Amino acid sequence: MSIDFFSAYSMTIDGLPATSPTAFEAFNPATEEVIATVPDASRDQLELAVASAARAFPAWSARPVAERQALVARIGDAIEAHAEDFMRLLTLEQGKARKGAEWEIGGSIIWCREIAKQDLPVHTVEMSEARTVETRRVPLGVVGAITPWNFPVLLAIWKIAPALVAGNTMVLKPSPYTPLCTLKLGEILRDVLPPGVLNVVSGGNDLGAWLTQHPDVRKISFTGSTATGRKIMESASGNLKRITLELGGNDPAIVMPDVDVKETAEKLFWAAFQNSAQFCVAAKRLYIHEAIYDQLAEALVDYARTIKVADGSHQGTDLGPIQNKMQFDKLRNLLADAKAEGQRFLLGGEIEDRKGYFVPVTIVDNPPEDSRVVVEEAFGPVLPLLKFNDLDDVIARANRSEYGLAASIWSKDVAAARKIAERIEAGTVWVNEIHTFSPHVAFGGHKQSGIGIENAIDGLCEYTNAQTLVVTAA
Ligand code: NAD
Repeated sequence: MSIDFFSAYSMTIDGLPATSPTAFEAFNPATEEVIATVPDASRDQLELAVASAARAFPAWSARPVAERQALVARIGDAIEAHAEDFMRLLTLEQGKARKGAEWEIGGSIIWCREIAKQDLPVHTVEMSEARTVETRRVPLGVVGAITPWNFPVLLAIWKIAPALVAGNTMVLKPSPYTPLCTLKLGEILRDVLPPGVLNVVSGGNDLGAWLTQHPDVRKISFTGSTATGRKIMESASGNLKRITLELGGNDPAIVMPDVDVKETAEKLFWAAFQNSAQFCVAAKRLYIHEAIYDQLAEALVDYARTIKVADGSHQGTDLGPIQNKMQFDKLRNLLADAKAEGQRFLLGGEIEDRKGYFVPVTIVDNPPEDSRVVVEEAFGPVLPLLKFNDLDDVIARANRSEYGLAASIWSKDVAAARKIAERIEAGTVWVNEIHTFSPHVAFGGHKQSGIGIENAIDGLCEYTNAQTLVVTAA
């Protein structure tokens, strides 16, 4: 079926298109132009979506898991069939460069196909003629999924695929800043999934709050900021919803003095600035051993000068704009503060007066450990370089954060680096690589970076209850 990805955005409720009496606008962050009007779901429409998901649940959960797996794999096929449109629309609404859009849409297809291969575990404790004791996994019911604006398609798939394989139905709400790809995903899946299995509703933060409070929703799977995560935890308590929260981060990278400076500088650049640093697991604090600090800083700046920051839809663009005005203003304020505090920029720092939410790649030279650029999650291309000379001290500084999402260690001495990694308080610690994710590798935050796991069998199990069956022969 031919679908126009660039107009006529509707929600998907009970397998049917739904518009709403009120609407909001979506913008292209590279031009600040309005690119679409989007339905703003009413509370009644949210009720309809939840009711539809609840109605669809008994039949969906009763289907053999192999059938659910096959349909989740078909979601991947449907995305692939529309991949070019998805990539163009993703760049248009999110701002990311073509390569980033390819990574996200390609990843979404892989995730559907790989999660579709995962089976729910059964733990058999006793098995004799007289008695069996086993713990199996059963679906929860209606899952509410809420996603952010940095990777709107991939992070939605991280929720849809395991939730549906496990036998749940879903009401999905994208960020109001990036609703378009998600609405089109709902539209193309009307032909793939039975009505009600995946409902997609668009709206603002109120809509998210209604979903998290809803008594018929059994679980909330949320990716977004720690501040919103706290609110969700509170409102989910009404009916003791299960929650998976993937929240903010302020990831440290520790660079030991034995690295190859030039090669590592390039890797660290992408570790920090991928997706214009609008990345939960971007390296956000770069701790560099003092023996190579100056050399590495220079190599990083040299490499950064080769990077083109422009409209993501233009050929040759490496990094696009900041996705929205709210985040752009936050970064402007952060830079103004850093300047007022007298911090030294090795690169960037000045926001040009032009159309589009463009922030230049900014590298800050060894700011105080308690300055805002170090303590806060910038969620934009402002990177502090920090000097260290003592291992225990740098590990303590790396851990001195309310966050604990991920980290990376860079050294030729792999055994020593691994020992450092083991002392870092974070859900993922990479050594000499970064940002390698897999549908089969558990991902989740420590401390205030989240609760629970996405991906892997652990992630699949988050969409289930454990049920122990104890059966004795009569
Ligand atoms: P956000 O918390 O502002 O919004 C995320 C989503 O929550 C949006 O859909 C929003 O409409 C909704 N929302 C807002 N208030 C709500 C409420 N009271 N109840 C229910 N829903 C509500 O986050 P954002 O600015 O879109 O995303 C950026 C943040 O996400 C960063 O902190 C980043 O680190 C984090 N993030 C984390 C991961 C991860 O896997 N840990 C991945 C990507 C982004």
